[in-house]
Amino acid sequence: MIIIGSNNKGKVEEIKNILSHIEVKSLKDVGIKIEVVENGNSFLENALIKARAIYKLTGETVIADDSGIEIDYLDGVPGVKSSRFLGEDTPYDIKNKKIVDMLEGVEGEKRSCRFKCVIVCYFGEKDYIATEGVMEGYILKESVGSNGFGYDPIFLSKRLNKCVGMMNSEEKNKISHRGEALRELKNKLKERGYYEDIINE
Ligand code: IMP
Repeated sequence: MIIIGSNNKGKVEEIKNILSHIEVKSLKDVGIKIEVVENGNSFLENALIKARAIYKLTGETVIADDSGIEIDYLDGVPGVKSSRFLGEDTPYDIKNKKIVDMLEGVEGEKRSCRFKCVIVCYFGEKDYIATEGVMEGYILKESVGSNGFGYDPIFLSKRLNKCVGMMNSEEKNKISHRGEALRELKNKLKERGYYEDIINE
């Protein structure tokens, strides 16, 4: 069994879908309530902080992730502080408007940004797999669409030239930072023998 170290329903579903055929359980499934202070300086550090805390509590293999948006014109801000930007409880329409305002007068390539996601599968102290996914894009001049969450409505995917806020989840998963990191994790789990008994996977 692998425990997913997240209380986010969307993330848990996405991980369960992509890692199909492995028994994965959410924190809720195993009845654990835990708030971890994510005070690391990188996505990897934060994912490891979460994974370690849950591993210590359960002794089970844990999958934990951390993600965020890096905006080049703002020197990578909000980055690891993406969920805390302007305060954890501030609605995203306000956060998104603030970012658009901060980039007022900035044109073209200078509006470049990326979503990043690091996923850790933690088997025990000093034994873990880490994978990273990146989605490149540009900050739009206004919010578009209402799909997804967080910064999706102001994020234009470079690959599809389409706002993530306009994509359905299937479309987003195919190109997203989280989808990419998860698919790489699945490959690494296969190398560790996790899928050996499954044919055509
Ligand atoms: P965490 O990985 O749960 O700590 O959250 C990271 C934060 O980064 C989220 O709360 C969002 O603000 C932002 N973020 C990460 N991935 C996405 C995404 O796919 N769309 C929009 N915002 C995202």
